[in-house]
This record gives sequence, C-alpha cells and structure tokens, in this order.
Amino acid sequence: MTRKAFVIGHPINHSRSPLIHGQWLEEHGIDGSYEAIDVAPEALPVFFERLRRGEFAGGNVTIPHKEAVFALCDSVDPLAATIGAVNTLVVTNGKVHGTNTDYLGFLGNLDANAPGWSDGPNDAMIIGAGGAARAVLVALRRRNGGKVHVLNRTLEKAQALVADIDGPFEAHGFDAFAELAPQIGLVVNTSAIGMHGTRFDWLDLALLPKTTLVTDIVYTPLLTPLLVEAAAQGLRTVDGLGMLLHQAVPGFAAWFGVQPTVTASLRARIEATLES
Ligand code: NAP
Repeated sequence: MTRKAFVIGHPINHSRSPLIHGQWLEEHGIDGSYEAIDVAPEALPVFFERLRRGEFAGGNVTIPHKEAVFALCDSVDPLAATIGAVNTLVVTNGKVHGTNTDYLGFLGNLDANAPGWSDGPNDAMIIGAGGAARAVLVALRRRNGGKVHVLNRTLEKAQALVADIDGPFEAHGFDAFAELAPQIGLVVNTSAIGMHGTRFDWLDLALLPKTTLVTDIVYTPLLTPLLVEAAAQGLRTVDGLGMLLHQAVPGFAAWFGVQPTVTASLRARIEATLES
C-alpha cells in the first residue's frame, strides 16, 4: 500500500519539505508520497479526522498550526510540550502522536558540520527568545556542558523562557554581550535578525575567543551578515540550512521505515531554492 505523508500550513506554498522528502522517496525507491496541503485553522479538526481514519502515515506541521495541534493530538512527546510546539505527527492505529524534531535538527546540523562542538563544558549564547530559541535551549540542555545565556531585545521574554525550562540558563538584554563574550564557546542566532540581510548593530565579534563556533538558524539568506562577519574574524561557522534538513530525518524514518541521509546533493537541491 502506498504510504502517504504531508506538510500542513496556511499558506503552505513556501515549504521546502516536499522537495526534501520527495528526494528521499526517490532515492530509496519507496512507494510513497509527500504532499503540501493548505489547511486553514478552522479546518484543522476535520483534517485530524482524516488522520484518524488512516489516510496518512503522518506529516509535518508548520505555521500557523504548531501550537494549535496540541489540543487535537492523542498524545504529545514531553519535549514537544517543553518546546511548546509540534512540528511532526505520526499516526499509529488511528491515534495521532505529536512530536518536535527541531531540536534534533539543530543537534544533527552541528554534529555533521562542526564535529566535537559539544566536547567539554562550553558556555553558550542564544540570541533571541522566540519559538526557535526554545528548541535550541532544549537541545543545548541535552548536549552542552556549560551555562547558556539567552540574550533578547525584550528582556522579559528571555526571562520567561529561562524560567520555563530547567537548566543552568540566564536571561539578559543585548547590552550584556560585551561582558559575556570572552567566556562564550558557542553563539546561536535564533532571532529574526539576519533574515533578508538584516544585521546586528551592537555585536562586536572580535570580543569572542578565536575558538568560538558561530551558528545561525536563519537560512534566508544562507550566509547571513552574522556568518559572514564571524568568518571574517576567523571564527568557525555553521549555517542554518542543515537544521532544516536534519529536522526532517526522524519524520521520514517514522512514516516510511527508512532512515534517510542528509547528502550534499540534497543540500544543493534545497540551496538552489534560497535567496542569495
Ligand atoms: P519568533 O518566535 O517570532 O521569535 C522571533 C525572535 O526574533 C524574538 O526573540 C524577537 O525578539 C527577535 N526579533 C525579531 N525582530 C527583531 C529585531 N528587529 N531586533 C531584535 N530582535 C528581533 O520566531 P522563531 O519561530 O523563533 O524563528 C526565528 C527565526 O528562526 C526565523 O528566521 C525562522 O525562519 C528561523 N528558524 C529556522 C529553523 C531552521 O530549521 N533552520 C527552524 C525554526 C526557525 P522580541 O522578543 O524582542 O520580539
């Protein structure tokens, strides 16, 4: 029987997930499909009825449904509950299980592109305190030995985030960067700064140790001004496209029963769709 998967969102035509899963289906010769489906918020309950009837093996959830599907799932992974968002659904025997693979995507990207990044205690800095920052904080709690400093434009949001998730985490405004920088081994931008070429005007990367790894989860453009400046300072950098590719791996494995690989050719195919 053909196994079917999907990504639901509203709108949905921007999603690159059909390209990613389409390539893996082709590579593995699987009798399956992965389609983008536009589901308006008011149509979500009816879509979940289709899921319970067994029409799909599962699928991805994107904006604006990542929080709304909590109430519709039969069970939700505790980590997805901590992150506050579901991005992957798996249907088994008419029951819908919700999970979040963004934190695995973040870890998979660094493991593949900066091996050894989590060896030894490492103080880290997350810039931004939105939904993506929650997933990165959960990821770092699992793998990063040191303290995590969350810097956000709106200090109250950073404070709310670190109060919500257990761990050696501290909240700051952007003005704390200069004082913290000399002890930071990993900088992660999760804020919207960098999208479409926007830049930080308060960040002096020369204050970071030369061994610091800088990663941006923004991938439009692929080389954000932050990454360009970090590389110019001689710092190691990892772009955000790998997070998008690696977060797709667990879903594909659950729906189609094959562990796919993030290859250079897959990356090139998705890269070709990004703005430069
Ligand atoms: P979000 O929940 O809307 O959070 C946005 C964050 O950006 C907040 O911390 C916000 O600060 C900050 N921000 C926005 N505009 C700013 C500005 N002009 N100056 C300073 N800070 C600003 O968004 P999100 O879901 O966390 O996503 C953030 C980014 O990550 C997006 O670009 C998204 O595409 C990307 N992302 C990538 C992946 C991947 O797979 N690579 C996965 C998820 C998300 P305030 O709290 O002060 O408003």
